[in-house]
Amino acid sequence: EVDVPESHPRYESLLTRHRIEDGVDRGITSRQGLIAQGRGEAYDYLLGERTLESADRAERAAAAYLLRADHAVVSVNGNAAALVPGELVELAEATGADLEVNLFNRTEERIRAIAEYLRDHGAEEVLGLEADGRIPGLDHERAKVDADGIGDADVVLVPLEDGDRAEALGEMGKTELVVDLNPLSRSAQVATVPIIDNIVRAIPNVTAHAREMADDPEAQRAAIEAFDADEALEAAERAIRDGA
Ligand code: ATP
Ligand code: MG
Repeated sequence: EVDVPESHPRYESLLTRHRIEDGVDRGITSRQGLIAQGRGEAYDYLLGERTLESADRAERAAAAYLLRADHAVVSVNGNAAALVPGELVELAEATGADLEVNLFNRTEERIRAIAEYLRDHGAEEVLGLEADGRIPGLDHERAKVDADGIGDADVVLVPLEDGDRAEALGEMGKTELVVDLNPLSRSAQVATVPIIDNIVRAIPNVTAHAREMADDPEAQRAAIEAFDADEALEAAERAIRDGA
């Protein structure tokens, strides 16, 4: 399906781009999602297309928060679904989190398409269609969540979330785990755990950390203790500026 030779120096990047295009064709990714992908790629390039040590610590802390949650929810948008559908299902399984489709540019059709795509990749239950809860402080369409999903969650993982909604979720008192390649993005700045990494690398690594710490509450506590959000944001910014 993809006509990119594996030997191409930017193979991963081109493959990722193709998945987003394919997501648009399938009706799961919005056209706005193409723009978001472009922004992400630019930051990934500047970060050296690698997982920084500080991002790995963030991914480990995120795994710990998910494992320790009373009710964890992994929020899924059109870009996340197109890029890492199976990996999101595995993460939910490894941590006991729910999956909820939650879109910035919300259409019922796209929510259904994403839910079906996740089920094709092994998800059993996918939330997001009830939309019977609201995030306070946002306009009507942007505020919709499932009352027994994100509405009820104490910990939410939001990949590529919009800054306004990230802020509003934080104000609801939720522990927010944000994946965003831009350390200057408001979403990253307001997160309890900003994961400055490509979602393609981040999600499988959170799952790996979760599996490793699943039966080890002491390791979970230590992972949270070892993580400092401001330090992680600074480390990412330094990596961009100095390549360090
Ligand atoms: P705000 O500044 O209010 O947070 P924004 O300007 O960042 O909003 P968008 O363009 O929707 O709004 O943001 C998309 C974000 O998603 C960007 O910060 C981009 O770096 C990030 N992003 C895009 N693709 C990926 C990816 N594959 N992995 C991780 N982050 C990504
Ligand atoms: Mg942002």
